[in-house]
Amino acid sequence: MFEPKVKEFTPFLKGILFKNVIGITLCPFGIFVKDINKVSHKTINHENIHWQQQLEMLIVFFYILYFVEWVIKMCFMKDAYMNLSFEREAYNNDINFDYLATRKPYAWIKYIFH
Ligand SMILES: [Zn+2]
Repeated sequence: MFEPKVKEFTPFLKGILFKNVIGITLCPFGIFVKDINKVSHKTINHENIHWQQQLEMLIVFFYILYFVEWVIKMCFMKDAYMNLSFEREAYNNDINFDYLATRKPYAWIKYIFH
């Protein structure tokens, strides 16, 4: 399988990301983290889940759906980010380090209304 490389934020990413962001997955370039020496296994696992989501959504559809879902949920919820299906799947499973070995494709779908 196509495995992501873990790298530190580039100066550009540091400039555009909110200060509280500690990691971001940008398929096909890799997983980018704020501090490569301090990043937790949980964060890497979380970003690896996003990597799989992005691959199965052919990258571009991941961003379209992520954005559309965020805009829609912002109208109805206080914390739209934590209620995004991609984030719910990742946050619900990022401490399960065997998750990706057993995950079914498009597993995020069940988190859309959940
Ligand atoms: Zn996430």
